[in-house]
Amino acid sequence: MAKIFCVANQKGGVGKTTSAVNLAAGLAQVGQRVLLVDLDPQGNATMGSGVDKRQLELSVYDVLLESATLHEAAIFSEKCGYHVLGANRELAGAEVELVDLERRDQRLKLALDVVDKDFDFILVDCPPSLSMLTLNGLCAANGVIVPMQCEYFALEGLTDLVNTIKQVHANLNPDLKIIGLLRVMFDPRITLQQQVSEQLKAHFGDKVFNTVIPRNVRLAEAPSYGLPGVVFDPSAKGSQAFVEFAKELVERIPTL
Ligand code: ADP
Ligand code: MG
Repeated sequence: MAKIFCVANQKGGVGKTTSAVNLAAGLAQVGQRVLLVDLDPQGNATMGSGVDKRQLELSVYDVLLESATLHEAAIFSEKCGYHVLGANRELAGAEVELVDLERRDQRLKLALDVVDKDFDFILVDCPPSLSMLTLNGLCAANGVIVPMQCEYFALEGLTDLVNTIKQVHANLNPDLKIIGLLRVMFDPRITLQQQVSEQLKAHFGDKVFNTVIPRNVRLAEAPSYGLPGVVFDPSAKGSQAFVEFAKELVERIPTL
């Protein structure tokens, strides 16, 4: 059975997509069968996995509206070693089109049920909002991975997300829980980041992943080559951290 995890945080630019593509690549490198679902109309996870969003014949949009199956729409990225269910601007329309449909928040779940045996991990890169698209991700998932920067308002920003997860857990998906908080873009030279990191551990205990992702320019450069950092420059500190994170996640699975 595939483990389905959303990479979510309602803030933009916190490292969701970078975490999703690099975790996907890291998991693939340690032998896991991975599907990455891009739920953001910006299509950054799609492009960052070597799939051109402008040339998608079928995308997650078609899957959500049931005009294609996941088998038809998912593409294997040879370079990255995982499958991608891509997204592009068309997906922004799904928000409106889903409103009138039955079980509009369960569309992704229904589609993923069919491929449950084909993958070990399904990662969902969510948009920076608590929209109908994100809700589809949360309804389909076993858990949420929350990338966050150790900044002053980090804990405050988490409250909304934690409340949303509690509501979805109570009303729509009893499976859903926070798998863990991933500290990203970390710079140990900045005292404030160390302090916030300690606060996070004090509040969330072992829900904070041990692996810390450093700020690393190679991770930021990789998308312009259509690759996750892990594939683009495996020797970079950031890439190595994501492979470590993939291993940590695999080790945690039996305890979840
Ligand atoms: P989100 O998906 O949450 O909007 P992104 O993953 O797109 O965030 O990251 C926002 C920006 O920060 C991007 O330009 C990305 O390349 C950069 N970035 C993300 N993680 C790192 C990191 N660990 N080191 C350096 N830059 C990073
Ligand atoms: Mg993103």
